[in-house]
Amino acid sequence: MTVETANSDAPVLLDLPPLDAAHFARIEDKVAALLRTRCDVVAMQGEALLPLEAAIRSAVWPGSTALNIITGPYGETFGGWLRSCGAEVVTVSAPFTGAVSPQQVADALRKHPETAFVSLVHAEAATGNTNPVAEIGAVVREHGALLMLDAVASVGAEPLLTDEWGVDLCVIGGQKALAGPAGVSAVSVSSRAWERIAANERAPRRSYLSLLDWKERWINAGRTALPHAPAQLEMLALEQAMNRIEAEGLDAVIRRHRAAAAAVRAGVQALGGPVPYVVRDEDAAPAATTLRAPTDLDAREVVSAALAADGAVPVQAAAGALAKEMIRVNHYGRAADRAVVLASLAALADGLKALGREVDEDAAAGAAGLAWDEVVAMR
Ligand SMILES: *Cc1c(COP(=O)(O)O)cnc(C)c1O
Repeated sequence: MTVETANSDAPVLLDLPPLDAAHFARIEDKVAALLRTRCDVVAMQGEALLPLEAAIRSAVWPGSTALNIITGPYGETFGGWLRSCGAEVVTVSAPFTGAVSPQQVADALRKHPETAFVSLVHAEAATGNTNPVAEIGAVVREHGALLMLDAVASVGAEPLLTDEWGVDLCVIGGQKALAGPAGVSAVSVSSRAWERIAANERAPRRSYLSLLDWKERWINAGRTALPHAPAQLEMLALEQAMNRIEAEGLDAVIRRHRAAAAAVRAGVQALGGPVPYVVRDEDAAPAATTLRAPTDLDAREVVSAALAADGAVPVQAAAGALAKEMIRVNHYGRAADRAVVLASLAALADGLKALGREVDEDAAAGAAGLAWDEVVAMR
């Protein structure tokens, strides 16, 4: 792809040579390497909710039992899809202040041995928690159910070992830690999952939601002819995002995200006022840190005051029922950066001061900088 100089009026996104099948397959292979999987990877031509819904509708059938693990807002969405597939849905929930435990999952599977499908979110950008997928995956694998993982907010921000963890359907998007596009996404499909999907009479076929169409028309045909015109610009952007991560090194990118989370958590504790919403460090997502607003302040007021101090920082109020109490500091992708994290803390400090609070801005910056440097120095 050629990039025009900034002062040229020539369109840079038009008139590109077509994205051919071989190139499309290479991008899928790059995703497979990123996910540490030898399974098939399908690059889905839509935002990540497309493969999430496609995976559920493909692998879940009427009268089957599905275990839905809810640790944030996406789990609620999955529950709706599972029910609309006619599944009996067993729900395990963890408070948004922590993670679900492998023991909770093991107990639910023991109580419902007929469970055929388990849906789990790895990291929750919206609520700032992350779940121990390796341990949960082992429990699910021992039971024999299929495991679907929403890894949209974890890929690139923390280790994601699809095959080692026994994940059958691993869904990612480009728009979080990969700092890529939101318009395409991908799902890895294990051979066990393909078998059950093929046996499911209700699995979508000849449909935008069909994984089987991709299997039959693309994978089984040797990935030599694309079934439809691909979302070319988004695919190229995803490739560039993965190339940029490869150049920096995945370990370094992950370390940058961990450093950002550690810095925000340490900084906020030194600041005085809001506190980390997720209680234990190990349950905190590297992609975003959520904060509990002081009880006598509305989180939306704090966010508005912080953004009035510095409108460029990635600080936002939570959505829905949590909006009053939860402040979200995003630090995924390019925002997993020392200067951005320090600017976010400074904006929160200025906002809190404008609201009449006494906060220790210098202590916050000192603690955050130290925490960042400690993680980055660790190997
Ligand atoms: C961001 C995200 C998605 C993608 O959904 P959008 O609302 O379109 O951003 C899916 N799952 C998780 C866990 C996410 O964090």
